Amino acid sequence: MPKHESRAVNAGRHQRNCSICGHKQRCEIEADFVGWRSPTSIVEEYGLADRSSVYRHAHALSLFAKRQRNVRAALERIIGKSGEVDVTASAVVAAIQAYSKINAAGQWIDRSEQVNLNDLFERMSNEELEAYAQDGTLPRWFEASAGTATVEHSPA
Ligand SMILES: [Zn+2]
Repeated sequence: MPKHESRAVNAGRHQRNCSICGHKQRCEIEADFVGWRSPTSIVEEYGLADRSSVYRHAHALSLFAKRQRNVRAALERIIGKSGEVDVTASAVVAAIQAYSKINAAGQWIDRSEQVNLNDLFERMSNEELEAYAQDGTLPRWFEASAGTATVEHSPA
């Protein structure tokens, strides 16, 4: 298991002081964290010292980036809570709408666009991409190609 050296050193230092690294339910703890379970409830469930031990472990193991890509899980949590108390109806509706537009990699995709817009972006030159980034201007050829895909966005 060869690792990058400095990372291995840091990991070793972390491991010695970490109650999660040696925890027998480490896998479940990490899965819960990446699944957007609140650190408070993770602490309670697994009998950990405090939330900061969860955060320290998550930093050491780069779990934050993993969790960020896991937006769908966060939305599932909100949607799942709709039977409980403190989630407003509009939050649930917004979450369901967002959920339907986010792919497994956590990227926002409008249904009407997912067919070909990504391909079209790849065909844009650097200058065209820069113009788009600055003021949203799309090249003429792009709008022509995407026209049929974006029709659903215009008011009925
Ligand atoms: Zn740890």
